[in-house]
Amino acid sequence: MSGDNCYNGKSKFIFITGGVLSGLGKGVAAASIGALLSRFRVIPVKCDGYLNVDPGTMNPIEHGEVFVLDDGGEVDMDFGHYERFLNINGKSEWSLTMGKVFSTLIERERQGVYAGTTIQFLPHVADVIKDHLFKIASKENADVLLIEIGGTVGDLENEFYIEAARQLSHIVGQDNCIFAHLTYIPIPNGVREQKSKPTQMSVRDLNERGIYPDIIIGRCSEPLTTKIKDKIALYGNIPSKNVISGLDMKSIYEIPLSFQEEGILDILFKKLKISSTGSPKMDEWKRLVDICKKNYESPRKTLNVALCGKYTQLEDSYASIREAIIHAAAHLNVACKLTILDTESMDEASLANLSSFDAIIVPGGFGSRGMEGKISVIKVARENNIPFLGICYGMQLSVVEYARHKCGMPLANTIEVESDGIEVKEPVIAFLPGLEYVKVLGGTLRKGGYDVFLKKGSLVEKIYNGASVIRERFRHRYEVNPMYISKLEEKGLIFSGYSAKEDNIMQMMEIPDHPFFVGCQFHPELTSTLLKPSPLFHNLLKAADKRSDERS
Ligand code: GLN
Repeated sequence: MSGDNCYNGKSKFIFITGGVLSGLGKGVAAASIGALLSRFRVIPVKCDGYLNVDPGTMNPIEHGEVFVLDDGGEVDMDFGHYERFLNINGKSEWSLTMGKVFSTLIERERQGVYAGTTIQFLPHVADVIKDHLFKIASKENADVLLIEIGGTVGDLENEFYIEAARQLSHIVGQDNCIFAHLTYIPIPNGVREQKSKPTQMSVRDLNERGIYPDIIIGRCSEPLTTKIKDKIALYGNIPSKNVISGLDMKSIYEIPLSFQEEGILDILFKKLKISSTGSPKMDEWKRLVDICKKNYESPRKTLNVALCGKYTQLEDSYASIREAIIHAAAHLNVACKLTILDTESMDEASLANLSSFDAIIVPGGFGSRGMEGKISVIKVARENNIPFLGICYGMQLSVVEYARHKCGMPLANTIEVESDGIEVKEPVIAFLPGLEYVKVLGGTLRKGGYDVFLKKGSLVEKIYNGASVIRERFRHRYEVNPMYISKLEEKGLIFSGYSAKEDNIMQMMEIPDHPFFVGCQFHPELTSTLLKPSPLFHNLLKAADKRSDERS
């Protein structure tokens, strides 16, 4: 089977590759290019080299957070950037992993699709990749497919994506395909000069694979000098203006604006033969970015927010929460300092110190490690009127805390900890119906976008502007045990958001007579954008702002 005949003759392909180092921000660079092309139907695709079918089974400390799409797909966190920058709802099939590629290949082989031929890495693996890209382009009627190839050129695990990209460019022709290569320009101590050699070498790596980048983005702590641009251009065989500064920015939301200033659109339009029709509308985006910048440099006011979780070793574990806070802070014209506290090591002193924060978030999580610490944090937030948002596990544990300390149920717990050998006498959080006996871990949670019906007269109804139904994204296996709902409500806890009446899953809770205490079974951070911040984060920070005023 070959993908050669599947090109729709219309879509343009932009490939983003990376060189020199990983972690240079290919995802943000790709998303930034996408943001500038908002007049077109741009479909982002991420190609990852690992063999997991999706990142859902990976620990967030290894790979950063798992991003959940509306269709329930668990995908790489770069999709967060794509959705936030492109204002689009991603789809699972836009995420490709080598695990998916090989599953497809083996499935085809078992079905006899290859009719007796020998299945080989080439052409067959590259064919599966090309087929997939062509299929998305056609199905989505894409003007542009924006394809980020994971890792760094030369990584063995990504070789087939690179080869597929080369073949695809050959098939669709010069005018329909462009390669942008993101590299790193070091300024070594002592020399104090921008150095191009690593970039030259990584461009050579690409050339060896038959790919000649049209744009080179040099990530650097300073704007690229004309001298270095000329040098990279000479060795990369491209015009100097096609060498773009990928300047380190305080706010990632500045990057599209900076790419625009560097003239990236002209290069794209010229190469892809797109007749340009005016510049993208970035006014509101720019206004908010300017507010962020101003507050980074000399904050009007700084709010202190504690994020109390257990994935503290890797910043990316809570990537979307960080972004959601940035969005809300921009709209309130404040700076926000996020401190991550490890709930595994919560002692009396650290609990007492929580009062110095303007707001507390207990994020999503799994298992018993750090869980009692989270419950102690929640108790402090509830009893001391500290604005609080409990997300997913954070909401479930807020219910456990309330049951233990307000409903006379000291043995209340979540059934989730039973698998860690803890006996659970009062399971206020229990299995979602149907998930009790599921032993397979991959893809078996309740995932994706669901409607949430809001209770009339509740705080959350007000926060969501009087809406009666909202749509948010979920990823969980447990829920508030229906057997305990009335007991909790009798003692004052309000369930203010629930699922469709038939399954009646409690999806939001709040505590009255508190400046802001809300729990949500979903992940509001996943749908927050700079232009449209999540109402929950926005209102959490509003309450934090008020607390900070009252305390000063
Ligand atoms: N561990 C909980 C559950 O599976 C919460 C999940 C989460 O926080 N994403 O229901």
